[in-house]
Amino acid sequence: MAYHLLQRDKPGAQRLGDALRLALERIRHCEKCNSYAEEAVCALCRSSRRDGTLLCVVETPADLLMMEQAQCYQGLYFVLMGALSPLDGVGPREIHLDRLARRAADGVVREAILATNFTVEGEATAHYIGELLRAQGIRVSRIARGLPVGGELEHVDSGTLAQAVLERRNI
Ligand SMILES: [Zn+2]
Repeated sequence: MAYHLLQRDKPGAQRLGDALRLALERIRHCEKCNSYAEEAVCALCRSSRRDGTLLCVVETPADLLMMEQAQCYQGLYFVLMGALSPLDGVGPREIHLDRLARRAADGVVREAILATNFTVEGEATAHYIGELLRAQGIRVSRIARGLPVGGELEHVDSGTLAQAVLERRNI
């Protein structure tokens, strides 16, 4: 990309450089949800149309964006900016769990929906946060695992199929 810009699009390189510099100067973390924002509190957290009793915990701002694009959720968020990974030196402090605990204790939040990844780190993080928030008297739920929409059993990996059977529900 750098070679392409230098050879064919120097004005584009200038614009990209300016945009990156501005982002570094202006973008910070929202005081409430910890996602990226240009203001102290982001537009999503300020919105009066969101349900403040629900707090969805995700690993990254990209995960928050995916949740928003799915248009299935009207509550608020907390972005961890990672997941617990002791071997990499990422502990509760690095993923801001002290701030999450304070955020969830605002007296409005009733339920925390844990939407961390279904990786070893994501599962460990969900377990840890579950214990933490349940101790604060908050209802804790985990997003479900299962087959993809439109998916066919014969094309699904055995781990996903096994989880789908374990987490079956009545209809
Ligand atoms: Zn926010």
